[in-house]
Amino acid sequence: MSDIALLPEVHAFLPRSHALFIDGGYVQSHSSQTLAVINPANGEVIAQVADADQADIDAAVESARRGFQQWSRAAPATRGNVLLKLADLLEQHREALAQIETCQSGKIIQISRAFEVDQAAHFLRYYAGWATKISGQTITPSLPSFAGERYTAFTLREPVGVVVGIVPWNFSTMIAIWKLASALVTGCSIIIKPSEFTPLTILRIAELAIDAGLPAGVLNVLTGGGAVGKGLVEHPGTDKVSFTGSVPTGIAVGRSAMGAGLTRATLELGGKNAAGFLRDVDLDKAVNGIIEAGFLHSGQICAAAERFFAHRSQIEPIMDKLAQRLSRLNIGSPLDERTEFGPVTNRQHQQKLDWFFAKARAENNTIIHGGKLIDGPGCYVEPTVILANTINDTLLNEETFGPIATFFPYDTEEELLELMNNTPYGLSASLWTNDLSKALRMVPAINAGTVWVNMHTMLDPAVPFGGNKSSGVGREFGGAFIEDYTELKSVMIRY
Ligand code: NAD
Repeated sequence: MSDIALLPEVHAFLPRSHALFIDGGYVQSHSSQTLAVINPANGEVIAQVADADQADIDAAVESARRGFQQWSRAAPATRGNVLLKLADLLEQHREALAQIETCQSGKIIQISRAFEVDQAAHFLRYYAGWATKISGQTITPSLPSFAGERYTAFTLREPVGVVVGIVPWNFSTMIAIWKLASALVTGCSIIIKPSEFTPLTILRIAELAIDAGLPAGVLNVLTGGGAVGKGLVEHPGTDKVSFTGSVPTGIAVGRSAMGAGLTRATLELGGKNAAGFLRDVDLDKAVNGIIEAGFLHSGQICAAAERFFAHRSQIEPIMDKLAQRLSRLNIGSPLDERTEFGPVTNRQHQQKLDWFFAKARAENNTIIHGGKLIDGPGCYVEPTVILANTINDTLLNEETFGPIATFFPYDTEEELLELMNNTPYGLSASLWTNDLSKALRMVPAINAGTVWVNMHTMLDPAVPFGGNKSSGVGREFGGAFIEDYTELKSVMIRY
């Protein structure tokens, strides 16, 4: 096993004195505080970034307000073309961006290339198409005419203003691209606040955005911890926050936004997503499905499944086959192209997963496979299969955000639906069966923003995505994002 060689571009980028990206270029922070970026595969510090302070927040907001004045007046086609050019630049720098991402997040290089770059470029091109298709309506008012006068009305879709995009660590590029693409095509400016664990790739992408023709100030990047996100949300100069992250932080962000004069908020939060296997399912297909649903990127995907429900007669053979498959996974360095399963993204998260393993043991769950940290300087944990004891067990109720598949048996399909819905969350769910007619009858009974049939975790820019219940507010993708990034202005005329 051996790592790929890092490109000279990556060697040059990582040790830079990483500043904030404000007004079209790197600007030194007013703060003397920095944050270390650590490679979770080996525990080494790979870069230092600025931990922005209030003066930096003010500077970024002022710049974004100026950027908004200019960008909101740009022709829709101009906006779309900048996004298309940025997609091309992402592809031209594909390998360097993927390597930076793998070094900061531990994501295996194949996933960095396929999702953080290729998928991000695909999303940019999809959104670019919307730039020229955002429009209002004409309306015939309902009022009767009293003296022969007439009325007509129309609506305008106007950009909401300066958007704050707060991004988690699991897909630092792709999620940032969802937010910046939504903002830029609707004519908003945006300040991205990346996760303190994974701030590097988006700093490089901000430079590429300027090369793509984006005017200064339309995209700013402020690095730092949660306080920077809070400061941006509560700043009187910002108009909307698009937040992706955990439920507790999302609730805090929602409160801050409402308290700051009803700043608009879209919240894409966590979940405890379920996958339900009907009795007719082929066991090998079920196991492939569970690997896709629960173990991609070491389970660190908001839409991933963590609760797996199989018929009582099939649960043991499914878990056994799954354990055999997981024991053959190539676990190793994320920079080795043969690695199938890498580290989790940071030490805190690894420790949190260890807490879940201990909790499972304390609650007498059966650990079918894994259940331990992997010794060494990296943040590795074993891919894990657990059979829960009761439906109240922690592993069936709290989001682990890790490579832990927790199983529970059902006897009837009514019981399966009850189990799947037995959660305060509602981001995604999947049904696995050859009986499509039965699946389509069950879909309406599942309370989740996305329900997949015979697949899980695949996101497509054309298909709206977002959470029900405590998994969030608002939708990204499709045409649904337009409502969140624009205000509807009604114009009424008497003639
Ligand atoms: P997190 O909530 O800890 O942090 C997310 C971001 O919020 C970070 O940039 C952080 O610095 C910032 N932040 C922290 N406190 C803040 C505050 N008070 N105000 C403003 N910003 C603040 O989440 P995480 O650990 O980075 O990511 C994992 C979580 O994200 C999981 O729960 C996962 O399910 C969720 N997630 C959801 C989606 C989705 O689309 N629904 C996608 C990816 C991840």
